[in-house]
Amino acid sequence: MKIAELYEIYKQHPVVTTDSRKCPQGALFFALKGDSFNGNAFAAQALEQGCVYAIVDEAEYAVGDDERYILVEDVLATLQQLAHYHRKQFKIPVIQVTGTNGKTTTKELTASVLSQKYNVLYTQGNLNNHIGVPKTLLELTSEHTIAVIETGASHPGEIKALAEIVDPDFGLITNVGMAHLEGFGSFEGVVRTKGELYDYLRAKHGTVFINHDSEDLKRIAGGLHQICYGSPCDEVLSVEGEVLECAPFLKFRWRPAGGEWQEVQTGLIGAYNMQNLLAAATIGRTFGVEVDAVNRALAAYEPKNNRSQLTETDDNKLLVDAYNANPTSMRAAIENFRDMKVERRMAILGDMGELGDCSWKAHQAIADLLVESGFEHVWLVGPKFKAARHPFRTFDNVEQVKKALEIKKPKGYYILIKGSHSTRLYDLPDYL
Ligand code: ATP
Ligand code: MG
Repeated sequence: MKIAELYEIYKQHPVVTTDSRKCPQGALFFALKGDSFNGNAFAAQALEQGCVYAIVDEAEYAVGDDERYILVEDVLATLQQLAHYHRKQFKIPVIQVTGTNGKTTTKELTASVLSQKYNVLYTQGNLNNHIGVPKTLLELTSEHTIAVIETGASHPGEIKALAEIVDPDFGLITNVGMAHLEGFGSFEGVVRTKGELYDYLRAKHGTVFINHDSEDLKRIAGGLHQICYGSPCDEVLSVEGEVLECAPFLKFRWRPAGGEWQEVQTGLIGAYNMQNLLAAATIGRTFGVEVDAVNRALAAYEPKNNRSQLTETDDNKLLVDAYNANPTSMRAAIENFRDMKVERRMAILGDMGELGDCSWKAHQAIADLLVESGFEHVWLVGPKFKAARHPFRTFDNVEQVKKALEIKKPKGYYILIKGSHSTRLYDLPDYL
């Protein structure tokens, strides 16, 4: 079936699902395949649950002459093509966000700022991959006046592929750092992959919002129409900023070139968030959001999903940042914690995943940073930290930490909790 034909069906039934257990009445079921499942096998169930059509790519599952089965060559590619086709029906500005760290935070902040003036479609949560991105685009309706789409990658070529689906008019690479080195091969691999967004926009004569504090980004931004933030630059529209306070919540100021300084007390932890806030302010100003409205949106934003959250238990104050960790974000979190003016501090840090050959060095560097920064109470969780040289207490896994906490719980501390998702440190707040 041609995409244009499928699109006619989609227009009648503009709800898409990939989970046969969650089939809203009238939805289209896309039978995706994963490492351990074959969505084709659930097509019949999806139709029983209320889906109107099932898009499958294995003929044996397209039962008899039941017209509710739509047989295509590749379900994933079809989902992506449909999403792209749908996106092309809209003339609104589409902003694609990528980067090593801060994509979700920046996307959420940007959406909050733009919502002051626009009806914004933006990625829900962290649905930033080859499936989440098309699903997000398929949510576009004629009510939306602008879109902010988060895209993530762990291998070369992925941002190019996502840009081809999203077809952005504007792009933002938050930063480039050390993450997913297993997939990218090297830091240059990271830069090149993120840079695929710039390449796409260069060819399309689009515009990029560029973090002017990143030499790596400046290096690859040649030939692009740029709007910059961070340190001042010559562009027509630029936004600069300065951290005012960072304990416990970040207070900063920003100003558009030649404008007045604006002070904002945020609900975010970590000086590194200033980059994310400046990006959102810059995008907001570019699209004509009033300065006061930008300030209001930035001040009101509260992070979700264990990202830089400050929570209080009866005994301690916790800085929970246990959703993910890579050497750049781990370093940023530790330096921020070091600079906070608090008395009793403790850190519980978990292994950082997907670092390939760099893994040992990266964990040793973090251990060294902890020593240099004068931390005394540090618990390190996981075999990689265990293998590094340092004076700190170590644990094989989060279960051991829980046991230790049941025996003796620290009291009256500020505690930083951070590690890769797989270390499951996000379970710890209940024990502290
Ligand atoms: P993911 O790859 O999981 O989608 P992300 O890029 O969307 O991550 P966020 O979820 O916004 O990033 O933030 C995750 C963590 O990264 C934060 O909790 C913080 O530790 C760190 N971080 C956020 N912004 C920055 C930044 N600008 N520089 C360095 N580290 C950052
Ligand atoms: Mg994210």
